[in-house]
Amino acid sequence: MRRIVIAGSTGSIGTQALDVISRSDSLEVVGLAAGSSVEPLLEQAAAHGVGRIALADPDAAARAAERWTAGQVLAGAEGLVELIVETECDLVLNALVGSAGLGPTVAALGEGIDLALANKESLVVGGELVMALAEATGAQIVPVDSEHTALHQLIAGQSPGSVARLTITASGGPFRGLTRSQLEDVTAEQALAHPTWSMGGKITIDSATLMNKGLEVMEAHHLFGTPYERIDVLVHPQSLVHGFIQLADGAMLAHVGPPDMRVAISYALNRGESVQQPIEPLDLAEIGALTFEPVDVETFSCLRLAREAAIVGGTAPCTLNAANEIAVHAFLQNELPFLGIAELIERTLEALPARPVRHFSDLYAADTEARERARELCKGVRAA
Ligand code: NAD
Ligand code: MG
Repeated sequence: MRRIVIAGSTGSIGTQALDVISRSDSLEVVGLAAGSSVEPLLEQAAAHGVGRIALADPDAAARAAERWTAGQVLAGAEGLVELIVETECDLVLNALVGSAGLGPTVAALGEGIDLALANKESLVVGGELVMALAEATGAQIVPVDSEHTALHQLIAGQSPGSVARLTITASGGPFRGLTRSQLEDVTAEQALAHPTWSMGGKITIDSATLMNKGLEVMEAHHLFGTPYERIDVLVHPQSLVHGFIQLADGAMLAHVGPPDMRVAISYALNRGESVQQPIEPLDLAEIGALTFEPVDVETFSCLRLAREAAIVGGTAPCTLNAANEIAVHAFLQNELPFLGIAELIERTLEALPARPVRHFSDLYAADTEARERARELCKGVRAA
């Protein structure tokens, strides 16, 4: 049995992971963690016979501890780390959203525990240190992200040095083809209506701004050690081809599959082995056509901002990510217009020049500073 701790088990990825695990004879959940959703977490613990849970919100943890006497409830960000470090497990699935996922990533890798990583923000914020930590302890990182799962599987079959370029695809989101002036008044409700994937709120907004692809370019760079100039983004509205690799001889290999995250989750939890899932295979004759188009980076400037921050390096990606989290939250609260998301990120990056990163503490400090600055700057962007 492979013993698994899931951080972020009540979210979109977390619940789909529990679905995959419940149908497996070789996977077992031994710990569950969430932010503040007490009721769903207790239900999951009961359904999966888990004896130890953690809630990042201390009040929620206190409520859970009152209600649930069958097991142990850990509290706070430290509680999540404790759950990972002290529960004997073989694999941690990190399905938290945002830079809050960095702590659990560091905790798992630091202990030499293999990591199924959905929380791409961990790599965006701290890619160099995270990859160095994995290298030092020998822990494996397997991505849980459709494009990166595709690239991981494609690259696994190649000899070193034969992969020339990587391509990740983007659906283009709900606003593909719109002009900047058409984007001025789009609402949170429209932005949350993703054409091909059903996901948590934050990544759905990131998909509408294309910031998600910017974060994914950084994710690919760190996972596969590929220089930025050799990572391409291609719009593919059907979301059926998830990634391509181009080989030295010019051949291109594509990864095609249904837009169902359980494929990526199963791949990571089963260590790259293909295990049967109740997923309808694609009928390509019925689909008929797969189309591709370039990204409109003028309109969707978040992708440009992310690539620029990636190349600057140091604390810049961490600042970009923190400002994006504040901006997305403000947009969802109707406190910022859609185009204000990119503007707030750009202003925050201008206000906080990049510094070198030597320790994880540099990242936590940069994250806090960028959040504070973005909150201040938000008022100005809103008024503009
Ligand atoms: P979600 O919002 O549905 O779920 C997030 C989970 O994290 C919940 O269990 C929540 O309780 C928990 N959480 C939130 N803040 C927390 C905190 N501060 N401390 C502890 N727990 C906290 O998010 P999601 O859509 O499942 O996405 C999770 C991650 O996976 C994100 O990094 C996202 O980019 C990535 N991802 C998601 C999908 C998808 O299909 N949903 C696809 C690819 C990658
Ligand atoms: Mg993705």
